[in-house]
Amino acid sequence: MRVLVTGGSGYVGSHTVRELAAAGHEVVIYDNLSTGDRRLSEGFEFIEGEIADGARLAPVLDRVDAVMHFAASAYVGESMTDPRKYFRNNVESALKLIDAVLASPVRTFVFSSTCAVYGIPQACPIDEESRKEPINPYGATKLFFEHVLEAYRVTHGLRYVALRYFNAAGAHASGLIGEIHDPETHLIPLALKAALGSAPPLTIFGSDFDTPDGTCIRDYTHVSDLGSAHVLALEHLAEGGASMSVNLGTGRGTSVREIVDVFHALTGIRIPHQYGPRREGDPPCLYANPARANEVLGWVARRNLEDILTSAWGWHQKFESKTA
Ligand code: UDP
Repeated sequence: MRVLVTGGSGYVGSHTVRELAAAGHEVVIYDNLSTGDRRLSEGFEFIEGEIADGARLAPVLDRVDAVMHFAASAYVGESMTDPRKYFRNNVESALKLIDAVLASPVRTFVFSSTCAVYGIPQACPIDEESRKEPINPYGATKLFFEHVLEAYRVTHGLRYVALRYFNAAGAHASGLIGEIHDPETHLIPLALKAALGSAPPLTIFGSDFDTPDGTCIRDYTHVSDLGSAHVLALEHLAEGGASMSVNLGTGRGTSVREIVDVFHALTGIRIPHQYGPRREGDPPCLYANPARANEVLGWVARRNLEDILTSAWGWHQKFESKTA
């Protein structure tokens, strides 16, 4: 299939386009490079543009079979301080993208959603029917857009899969692409940068959570596994499969402390760190029940925490030495 990938120069998008290409699909990347990095989309057809620019999208939509929509603002903390940016980019502009899609023959849509739609879960693991009460504007915008997709399924025959990622992590096996965020706020890159001495010591946010070691638990999922789930979602829709939202996680929770310890066990390197206060809005524990992804898409996360840390470490050593 030919697939328009908005945000294909971002972290999850750039790994997904490689999974699409490996599965024999053609890719057109559409990105405004506001947070994406051109280096991550080298080797693919690339169009620089805004998702709100229907006139620019129309000729591209005429020559593709499906859209994968990654382009969005995706910092939870920033969404608390600058919510207008999130409502503008993730809702207002995304509505214009979907208008352009509905004006075209394309009806197949894969959406990059998030476990932030759940807010603070009542219990873990979290399945798709769990209560959805986002606690930040980022999660609220993603949940809103899921409602848009469902409404347009009913009225316009749109067919979609919304993939709710837990914590994307790791880097591509080629060593050519990996996580680049500016500013960086995510645990694993900050920990590895601290290990390299290119960032200050890691601050572990909170040591008094109600978890076995007192630090937060998350479901770290390799970004290439997320990418392969997008391919399976596309193929599910192409085969006439039902529209739905699907969790993407390993089903295994890992604490911040474990990340530091496993990295030390793997490399012999200690991540310089200190404990600090909790970060506002951090739920103590988030991990997925990924049964639906397995049952409906035939997907399972193949890479474990060691694979995540090893690939991310390879990438950060190379990338930091290039940018130093
Ligand atoms: N975290 C931390 N120090 C940091 C960044 C993150 O202790 O400098 C913790 C954070 O509190 C959370 C986990 O690491 O429990 C993952 O945070 P991240 O920002 O990577 O992803 P999130 O779970 O917020 O999407």
